[in-house]
Amino acid sequence: MPVKRTIMVVGGGVIGLTTAYALIQAGHSVTLVERDQDVGIQASFGNGGQLSYRYVKPLADAGIPLEALSWMFQSESPISLKLRLDWHQWRWLADFLLACNARTNRANTTRLLQLALQGQQALHQWRQEGLADFLWRQPGKLVVYRNAHKFSKAAGAVSNPQQERVLTPRECAEVEPAFAGLAPALAGGIFSPDDEVADCYLFCQALLKALQQSPEFQLVTGEATFEEGGAERCRVRIDGVPQQTDVVVLAAGLASRSMMQPLGRTLPLYGLKGYSLTVEADPAVLPDVSVTDYDNRVVYARLGRRLRVAAMVDIGALDASLDPRRIAGLKRLAEETLPAAGPYGSAATWAGMRPATPTGVPLVERTQWRNLLLNVGHGALGFTLSCGSALTIRDLVEGMTP
Ligand SMILES: Cc1cc2nc3c(=O)[nH]c(=O)nc-3n(C[C@H](O)[C@H](O)[C@H](O)COP(=O)(O)OP(=O)(O)OC[C@H]3O[C@@H](n4cnc5c(N)ncnc54)[C@H](O)[C@@H]3O)c2cc1C
Repeated sequence: MPVKRTIMVVGGGVIGLTTAYALIQAGHSVTLVERDQDVGIQASFGNGGQLSYRYVKPLADAGIPLEALSWMFQSESPISLKLRLDWHQWRWLADFLLACNARTNRANTTRLLQLALQGQQALHQWRQEGLADFLWRQPGKLVVYRNAHKFSKAAGAVSNPQQERVLTPRECAEVEPAFAGLAPALAGGIFSPDDEVADCYLFCQALLKALQQSPEFQLVTGEATFEEGGAERCRVRIDGVPQQTDVVVLAAGLASRSMMQPLGRTLPLYGLKGYSLTVEADPAVLPDVSVTDYDNRVVYARLGRRLRVAAMVDIGALDASLDPRRIAGLKRLAEETLPAAGPYGSAATWAGMRPATPTGVPLVERTQWRNLLLNVGHGALGFTLSCGSALTIRDLVEGMTP
């Protein structure tokens, strides 16, 4: 049995909660600090619901800068950019552009795939142990391509045809009949039968409920801050009150960047705003398989009786407020693509800030402070990568010298 430690996890989103769960399972004592009155209500709340284990390609890729320029002025464009007088934004964009090449993208995809698949195994085990009630299903995921060149590039990159099946437009319609109307517009698709969906907010709630069964767990509502603690350690305060703990795991999403500032470290995190719609619809018209419309970068996932539609990357948004123009654009896209599940006029709308690194690879690592670990920067894939990242943190904790 490894040494039992007292661990403070800062942040009650999907990353902090999975981290706390993995640490409790490993026999540690965990305090989770969350400044909101509920867990899972920031970036983890209304996300796309895809556990996209096989499709983890980061946004930073060859061709993206040019493509992004062509999208710039459309309300439905997958990416919008608002340049600001903010050195942090410029620095992030410069690093993003540096990562926009095929070689870096391939290397980062390999790292993310490993983390994702490790997380898939962990989630299956946690479900077997009783974690439930978060609308989990394993219907597979279909990525459909309208552009022939992009499709042939994606099809050429498939490394495991058992787990990623390259489909014709007709086969796409057979795999997911709800999208049959789209077939004439498609070049083809790639189907990953093992991919999953679930409701990320309900997953956060399920994790909290399971954690609260353990006498070694406590949830504290308050604002955590960091300062130098001497002897290469960082000290934590909650609402100004100093805390005693062996280890601190920072999992505060986008806010992690400002939290590290008093320690003099600038994390390469930037908020990429995205939007989602949630509609109640007749289950008979809802897709079973989760679908990504690649060219529009829109994802569709059925969560129980509801359809979740999520999309868009706004670079330069200051907060998670709803932009009516972007919401209208997303409704139009959904209406055109999957009209039967609409009308989308009365859909519940949501926006969130993805805590993103320029490369798309999260920071799940030790720091120069001997008691401080990072689990941040999961960008567009935080739900998918959460369980794998939690196991990495567990292993790092167990490798720490007292
Ligand atoms: C539109 C959209 C669609 C998406 N779709 C998918 C998808 O289909 N699949 C997928 O895998 N991922 C998806 N994502 C990404 C995923 O939602 C995020 O990567 C993930 O939710 C990030 O989780 P987090 O725990 O790091 O951050 P958060 O959920 O934001 O949690 C951080 C928490 O830390 C708390 N906090 C901050 N500062 C402090 C402090 N000082 N003290 C105490 N608490 C603090 C915050 O209140 C918050 O609760 C999507 C994101 C968006 C926006």
